[in-house]
Amino acid sequence: MNTVLPLSEPLPPAGRRAVHEANRLAKRLRHQVGRAIADFGMIEDGDKVMVCLSGGKDSYTLLDILLQLQKKAPVSFSITAVNLDQKQPGFPERVLPDYLSSLGVDYKILEQDTYSVVTRVVPEGKTMCSLCSRLRRGALYTFAEQAGFTKIALGHHRDDLVATFFLNLFFHAKISGMPPKLLSDDGKHVVIRPLAYVREDEITAYAEARRFPIIPCNLCGSQENLQRRQVKKMLDAWERETPGRIDQIARALGDIRPSQLSDPSLFDFLALGRRGDAPPPDAHAWLAGDGTATATGNDDPAP
Ligand code: SF4
Repeated sequence: MNTVLPLSEPLPPAGRRAVHEANRLAKRLRHQVGRAIADFGMIEDGDKVMVCLSGGKDSYTLLDILLQLQKKAPVSFSITAVNLDQKQPGFPERVLPDYLSSLGVDYKILEQDTYSVVTRVVPEGKTMCSLCSRLRRGALYTFAEQAGFTKIALGHHRDDLVATFFLNLFFHAKISGMPPKLLSDDGKHVVIRPLAYVREDEITAYAEARRFPIIPCNLCGSQENLQRRQVKKMLDAWERETPGRIDQIARALGDIRPSQLSDPSLFDFLALGRRGDAPPPDAHAWLAGDGTATATGNDDPAP
C-alpha cells in the first residue's frame, strides 16, 4: 500500500544525471509541501485526506508527494485518491484506475455526466471551465461528506495562488486570493492546498521525470477564460523580464500589513492616534461638509 512510484524502467547511463536531478527535485518538493502542511496546520493525526485527482500534472504531483511524506510524517493519516469522470468525449477511463492500482493506493472513481450539463447550458463559443469546475467541486464535496473525509486536498500551486490574486485585483477590485487552507462556504469541508509553495515549472519537470500518465483537461475543447489567460501572459512576461518576481509576489501574499493598506475593517484607523478625550468622528457631519468647501466653491477632495 502507498508505495512511492519508482522512476519507471531502468535508465540508460545517459539518464543517471536525470535521475539524480529528479531525486533532488523530489526532495525539494517534499520540503516545500511539508513546510506548507506545517505552516498552515493542514494535516493532523487521524485525518482522512481525500486527494482530488484530475489526471493533470498538478494532482499527480500532489498525490505522489503526499504518499512520500505519509511514510515519514510525524502523524498518521490516510490518503484516498478520488477522480470524477465527467464523461468528456474521449476520456480514457482506464488510465487512472490502472495507475492507482499499480501504486496500491486507496482510490475511488466517481461518475457524473457534468459534460452534458455544461454543453447544454453554456452558449457555444463561451468558456465552459467555470461551470464545469463548479459542478465538479459540488460532486467531489458531496462525496467527501458522505465518505467522512476530514480534509480535501487540491493540487493548486504557487502560480495558481498568484494568478488568482491578480484576477481578483484586476477584475473584482479586491485584495483576495486562493488560500492554502480554507473552510468551504457551507462550513462542512476543510480544503487544503499542500502545493501552495511549489512553482508550476517545477511541477511540470517533476511530472515529466515521473512519467505520470497525464490526461489533458481540455478534451472537451474548452479554453480557459480570457481574463485568466491575460493574467498568465502578464505574469510570464514579468518573470521573463525580472526572474524571481513571481516568487516575490507569492511571498508578499504571506506578509500582509493591514495598517499599510486602507481597509478600516482590518485595521482600526479610527483609534489610531486619537486623543482619549476626543469625541468620535461624526461621519454625517463630515460627509455633509462643514461649510468651507461650499464657501470656496471647491468641492474637489484634496490631492
Ligand atoms: S477544460 Fe473542459 S474539462 Fe477542463 S475545466 Fe474546462 S470545461 Fe472542464
